[in-house]
Amino acid sequence: MAVLLIHTGGTISMARTETGFAPKAGVVEDFVEKELGGRTGAHEIDIELLTPLIDSANATPEDWNRISRRIADAVGRYRGVVVTHGTDTLAYTAAALCFALEGLEMPVILTGSMLPLTEPENDGAGNLRDAFAAVLDAPAGVWVQFAGRRLHGARVYKTHSRKHDAFSCVPAHVPPRRDGAALIRHEARNARVAIIAAAPFMPADLLGHVVTNCDAIILRCFGSGTIPESEALRSALAAARAGEVPVMAVSQCAEGGVALGTYAAGAVLVEGGVADGRDMTVEAAYAKMIHALVEETDYSRRIAFLERPLCGEI
Ligand code: ASP
Repeated sequence: MAVLLIHTGGTISMARTETGFAPKAGVVEDFVEKELGGRTGAHEIDIELLTPLIDSANATPEDWNRISRRIADAVGRYRGVVVTHGTDTLAYTAAALCFALEGLEMPVILTGSMLPLTEPENDGAGNLRDAFAAVLDAPAGVWVQFAGRRLHGARVYKTHSRKHDAFSCVPAHVPPRRDGAALIRHEARNARVAIIAAAPFMPADLLGHVVTNCDAIILRCFGSGTIPESEALRSALAAARAGEVPVMAVSQCAEGGVALGTYAAGAVLVEGGVADGRDMTVEAAYAKMIHALVEETDYSRRIAFLERPLCGEI
C-alpha cells in the first residue's frame, strides 16, 4: 500500500519573495521525487496538494475539514498519511484532526520545518524523512514529527519561534486518537471563538463585549484558575450561559493546568458554569470548542463534552 502526502504549504515549502518567505509549488514535490525517489521503504508516495498552498497563519477550520476529508478518503486505500503544514498553527490543526477523526485506524503524521527546503542547512529535509519513517511504524492516531521527536497531536504546542526544536508536548498516557469502532469524520466549522487572556486590572467589561459578538470563549486564567473578580465578569458569565455561549478555562501556565475551585479568587468561574479545561493546551481547547459547538446542541451538553477526555487531550 502506498503512503499519501497531503501538502498544505508552510515554511517547509517556501522560497524567498520581495515580501518575505511564501509557499511555492514544486518545492516539497521535487524533494519527494528527487531525494526520496518517490518512496518510503517499499511504499510509493502519492502527493495531493491542498491548493492554494498557504502560510498556516491563514488556516481556518474549513481548511481542517479539507484535510480531514482527504484523510478519511485515504482510509483503506493508503497505509498512512503525512501532512506537511506550517508550524505557526500546526498544533491547532493536529488537535483538530484528533477530534475530527473518531475511530481512525491508521497513523497520520504532521510535519513542517523552521527553515524552507530551499535554504541551506534547513530542518525540512530531516523532518520529512523522519515523518515518512514514522508513518510506517507509528500507532494509529494523529502525531507530530518534529526535530527528531514524535509528539502527541492533541498535547503539542509551539514554544520557540526560531529554534529547529520548536515544539513541546505535555506527556500523555492515551494515544492521540478518538476512540470508536468505525471511522466517523466530524466536521468543524468557522465558528467565532475568542481566546481571552486574564491580566492584572483587565477591563472589567471586556468579556461582556466578547459574549455578544462570539460563539464561544476560551479564557486563559492565571495559574490554577484565578481571574480578577468583578460584577461585570459575573454578569458576562450569566449572559454567556443565557446566550448559549460556552466558556472554558485553561491556564496561562504551560504546565499543570487549571483546577477550578482551588482558590476563592476563581469561585466566580465555578459559579458561572465555566468548563474546567484542566491541563488542555490552548490549541486543543480551541479545536475542541469548535467541535463542542458542532457536535452538541445546548450549553450544559457542550460543557460536559468539553470536560470529557476524548483523545488524551486532558
Ligand atoms: N509562518 C509559517 C507557517 O506557519 C511558519 C512555519 O511554517 O514555520 O506557515
